Amino acid sequence: MFEELLQAWDGKETVIRYDADALAWIFIGIHSTQLGPAAGGTRMKAYATPADGLRDVHRLSSAMTRKLAAAGMHYGGGKAVIAVETIPNGNARRQLLLRYAELVDSLGGTYLTAPDVYTNEADMDIIGERTRHVFGKTVANGGAGSTAPATALGVLAGIRASLEHATGSGDLAGRTVLVQGVGDVGRRLAEHLARAGARLLVADINEAAVTAACRDLGATAVNPADALTTPCDVFAPCALGGVLSSETIPLLRCRVVCGSANNQLLRDENADLFAKHNIRYAPDYVANAGGVMHGLGLEELGWTEDYLKQRLEGIGDTLREVFRIAEAEGISTERAAERLVARRLEEGPPAE
Ligand code: NAD
Repeated sequence: MFEELLQAWDGKETVIRYDADALAWIFIGIHSTQLGPAAGGTRMKAYATPADGLRDVHRLSSAMTRKLAAAGMHYGGGKAVIAVETIPNGNARRQLLLRYAELVDSLGGTYLTAPDVYTNEADMDIIGERTRHVFGKTVANGGAGSTAPATALGVLAGIRASLEHATGSGDLAGRTVLVQGVGDVGRRLAEHLARAGARLLVADINEAAVTAACRDLGATAVNPADALTTPCDVFAPCALGGVLSSETIPLLRCRVVCGSANNQLLRDENADLFAKHNIRYAPDYVANAGGVMHGLGLEELGWTEDYLKQRLEGIGDTLREVFRIAEAEGISTERAAERLVARRLEEGPPAE
């Protein structure tokens, strides 16, 4: 049943292990090692069928190739899925993670893992007992800590660059920015925006988060149902994927869309609609790469905090290049980002 999926994927290698003790399928998708070892998180999840887990690992692994290439990192795209019947806890989880770590280690550094959905920093500590090819561990164990602050700073750089392209100035003073989702990343982004003098609108289904942002940052609350249609200069999706579609894009009343949420476009081709509505869309995987820069940069590459900040600022430069390609070739920013990625893969690993 896996045959068709394995043959149809354009990735380099798929590792499959059935763990009988945990009744779990382990899939490691190594999409590309053109720029360096494949890096990407381990997702632990119950899927309807094992094939769904395999499909997911392929999709997520390809996305990591794009994200890391656009970020100018010398890593390729990888991802792992541990497809379980129910999410294990306690010793059963620990033993499964140790067996998984041995599998990662057997790949000799071709694949580097990190936390993803339903795995966390403590899980990475356990994996670290059996392999050194892991990042995103707890601070106590040499990890670099939460990725959210770096992701927020990268998105901020992206917003400035996108505004500059749309209006001639990246100055946020007096600009209205609507942050959809004031969680780990969105809240930090909102803090930077408030400090920069932006008029802040916030929408979240978590009322406590909205109340706190209004109280602490002088934000104005927007009903979550109205987040997409409320007039603003910048719409920053920092909650869910799939918010941008052929139905919602025509309803937007903003000049720029730039946020941290993964997979914002329901379909890649929906990005073709932004030009018609005179909206600059910052492709999500370009704008939200601050998290991987933080994890890989600080834990694997020995970056200093100052150098990390420079690289996060560089997300703005990458977006300027994406806008330039889009204009020059008359294509959407999503397609332009794909061209940039293809160029970087062709050029080979960047000099550090
Ligand atoms: P989070 O769970 O801390 O925050 C998400 C927030 O969105 C929560 O406050 C939640 O209540 C809110 N939300 C959920 N549904 C909503 C809705 N319908 N309308 C409005 N608000 C809604 O997550 P996070 O770590 O802040 O990540 C936010 C997004 O950024 C996610 O898509 C995540 O995948 C992506 N991302 C995060 C990082 C990172 O470093 N944390 C890196 C890259 C991408």
